[in-house]
Amino acid sequence: MRIVFLGPPGAGKGTQAARLAVLRGVPHISTGDILRTAIARQTPTGIEAQGYVDKGDFVPFEIVLRLVRDRLQEPDAQGGWLLDGFPRNLEQGTAFEALLQELSQTLNTVLYFDVPDEEVVRRLGGRRVCETCGDTFHLEFSPPPAPADCEKGECSVIQRTDDSEDAIRNRLQVYLEETQPLVDHYRALDSLTPVDATSSIEEVNAAVDRAVIGLAG
Ligand code: AMP
Repeated sequence: MRIVFLGPPGAGKGTQAARLAVLRGVPHISTGDILRTAIARQTPTGIEAQGYVDKGDFVPFEIVLRLVRDRLQEPDAQGGWLLDGFPRNLEQGTAFEALLQELSQTLNTVLYFDVPDEEVVRRLGGRRVCETCGDTFHLEFSPPPAPADCEKGECSVIQRTDDSEDAIRNRLQVYLEETQPLVDHYRALDSLTPVDATSSIEEVNAAVDRAVIGLAG
C-alpha cells in the first residue's frame, strides 16, 4: 500500500501511520522524523533545517524533496510505504506526482485527518517525547513514566521546540495557507479518504483500518 497521511499538526497522523506500518509491514516515512534525526546528529542537512523546524516553518523544498526521493528508493520501500508529512503544499504535490511517475509507483489514497485548531493546541501543548526511545506522551492523556520505569532504558522526556505555543500557532497558520490548498486539490481529484480524527483512539484506529481494507501490503 502507498498512502499519504495528510492533516494538521497534532491530528494523530504519526501515531496512526506508525501503528499501520507495524500491522502491514511497510515503512512509516515521516519527513519530520527524518529531519529531527538529522538535526540531532547535526548532519549538514540537519544544520540547514534546524532554524526552520524550530520555528515551525517549512524546510526548503529541495531539501525535503531530496530526502523523500532517496527514502522512496530504499529497498524496504519497494513494497509500499506510509508517507507522513509530505507532500505539504501544492508545489510539493506536483513534484511528488512526477516522482511517483519516475519511480513507476502509484498512490492508493490520501488519508485526511481533520481536527479543529483548539484541539491541535491542546494536544501539541501537552505533548512530550522521549529523546532516548522516541515514545510520545501527553501530560493529560498519557503521562510519561518516571525515568526508571521506561521500558527501553532511561526516559529523557522533553518538549519538542516546535511544540511551544508560538511555534504551534505558526504551524497552524502555515498549515492553513500552504497545506489546505493541497487538501482541496486531492478532494477535487477524489483521492481523499476523510478520517474523523477527533474521536477516540480506538475509533480512529478502526476508521483507518476500514479505509485501507483490501489494499495489499
Ligand atoms: P512534522 O513532524 O510533520 O510536524 O514536521 C516537523 C517540521 O519539519 C515541520 O514544522 C517543518 O519545519 C519540517 N517539515 C516536515 N515535513 C516537511 C515538508 N514536507 N516540507 C517542509 N518542511 C517540512
